[in-house]
Amino acid sequence: MPSLPDAATASSDPAADAMFPPGPPPVDLGLQWVHGYAQLGPAFYTELRPTPLPAPHLVGLSTNLARELGLDPARLATPEVLAALTGSGMLAGARPLATVYSGHQFGVWAGQLGDGRALLLGEAQTAAGPQEIQLKGAGRTPYSRMGDGRAVLRSSIREFLCSEAMAGLGIPTTRALAVTGSPAPVLREEVETAAVVTRVAPSFIRFGHFEHFASTGQEAALRQLTDYVIDRYYPECRTGPAHERLGGNAVAAFLEQVSERTAALMAQWQAVGFCHGVMNTDNLSILGLTLDYGPFQFLDGFDPDHICNHSDSGGRYAYNRQPNVAYWNLYCLGQALLPLIGDQDVAVAALTSYKTVFPRELQARMQAKLGLLHTREDDRTLIEDVLKLLAAGRVDYTLFWRRLSDHVAGGPIDPVRDLFVDRTAMDAWLQRYVDRRADEPDDGAGARMRAVNPKYVLRNHLGELAIRQARTGDFSGVSRLLAVLQDPFAEHPQAHDDYAGLPPEWASSIEISCSS
Ligand code: AMP
Ligand code: MG
Repeated sequence: MPSLPDAATASSDPAADAMFPPGPPPVDLGLQWVHGYAQLGPAFYTELRPTPLPAPHLVGLSTNLARELGLDPARLATPEVLAALTGSGMLAGARPLATVYSGHQFGVWAGQLGDGRALLLGEAQTAAGPQEIQLKGAGRTPYSRMGDGRAVLRSSIREFLCSEAMAGLGIPTTRALAVTGSPAPVLREEVETAAVVTRVAPSFIRFGHFEHFASTGQEAALRQLTDYVIDRYYPECRTGPAHERLGGNAVAAFLEQVSERTAALMAQWQAVGFCHGVMNTDNLSILGLTLDYGPFQFLDGFDPDHICNHSDSGGRYAYNRQPNVAYWNLYCLGQALLPLIGDQDVAVAALTSYKTVFPRELQARMQAKLGLLHTREDDRTLIEDVLKLLAAGRVDYTLFWRRLSDHVAGGPIDPVRDLFVDRTAMDAWLQRYVDRRADEPDDGAGARMRAVNPKYVLRNHLGELAIRQARTGDFSGVSRLLAVLQDPFAEHPQAHDDYAGLPPEWASSIEISCSS
């Protein structure tokens, strides 16, 4: 691989060096950089430095992720690293750039978007393989449009906690290494303060990157991007069974793989009760990761029509619509890849696997939640019926599954029944469940269920309480919540009362919108 100049010490653009006089010496974390994305060339991004934030302080650090990456958590908390993560300094070997993409927002073509407030520092070789490192909230870029390039403390804490919570749940996601705060004011509905999330993922490439080059007729760039993504992340598409089945069409095989990963992700979101809130095509990861945490929410009381984004008046991204919207977004990706696939029927065939993979994956997740090892014909009805009962009583989704797990593990049934107003209907369902379980060997179903039905999820009010405390300069609530969310299936008796109970009355009045 050709080596590239180190932007921190030798920018490719002398004019940029003059505009951005050198700050403190780059901080060497011992990372080896690859810069795969940067090698695509200038049509794909703009190189620029972050805009420094004054007086940075550490708000949250994922020591788990630091260790997975082979980084020393104590080093990350030093003033020089905090400065590098908030734009006053730079990590040695980084080559900051903002990528260009386009996308469909709320079902409408939005044209060019791009990293309006995130800067990609590059791709580092880590103990967890090659990982891109991004600073979200690092200042304006050529793609900021009307935005200020900043992220506020509240939404940065939410993204940080939820990224690590999803990882703890075993759900594919971009990760968050740290949140760094600054007293710098940022205007939203009111004046707030700025923060930066240091995000980590094998790639931050979105469906919208492909739509960008397709919509602007840049077919050579579209091919270059597609080849790069296939070679780096989907090499099996050049030779594997999907390639053969789709007539030797590697791009179609790639589309099929993305469809399947997205289908599997949707099944995991639905099973855990996660609402993303802004499933625009520019927020869908080409690797099938949960990406761009904005107005997301874990369901409290089960409501299939729940809308977590206060700006989504039509409910396009309501909980029960997520699987269909993902499919719609995959169609947009398919449309963008069509010039490379060359045959509409092959493209449609590649997308069709979503329709078998999603229900299969969801069924498997729900069977596991019920502790059932084998699949029976009427299991689907058993699942649908309990969801109807949960919806009718707006029963707390997380508590129901965890209490059912505790009961199957040998605990009393009352904590489950107590969640329902219509006990007669629930008793009838429970009897069906008992009968169904009698068909299966009882080999530790309770323990299996506790390993898939989390005791702790990042409920809105838990995040809100940690944020309120953080606004007073006390970040202990963020770390305490993080520790539990990173290990959400364990009991954590000391955290039980604070984090595992029903949400308070005021939780339902929390309004989270796109503005963050
Ligand atoms: P989102 O819906 O948060 O994923 O953002 C949609 C687009 O708006 C992306 O291109 C973001 O980079 C951009 N954006 C969001 N907030 C800001 C901001 N405060 N400043 C600049 N760009 C932003
Ligand atoms: Mg986004």
